[in-house]
Amino acid sequence: MANVTVDLKHLEEVVSAHIEDSEHDRGIDIAFGALVGIAEQADALQTNLAHLLKQIGEPALCKACGAEIWFVVNRNGKRAPYTKAGLNHFADCPAAEKFRKGKA
Ligand SMILES: [Zn+2]
Repeated sequence: MANVTVDLKHLEEVVSAHIEDSEHDRGIDIAFGALVGIAEQADALQTNLAHLLKQIGEPALCKACGAEIWFVVNRNGKRAPYTKAGLNHFADCPAAEKFRKGKA
């Protein structure tokens, strides 16, 4: 979810720079309103996830990229690092290559 970053102001500027017809303006308003709703829901999910992670414990820092990670025990009994975004950090670490090389 952290990856859902919607720069609404920028989006509005881009859209209004390209559309001048008033009919289109109305459509854009509706689409824009929907986008705002999605961004608000994403924010709410982010907040819920942050609360959940606090229950799990203090974050560790990824040795490869420095991101905050929480170790969660999966159903298979193995611990896996998860980020604030709720993603498995083995998959989304920007320095994953380095990490794997270091481990091998
Ligand atoms: Zn990392």
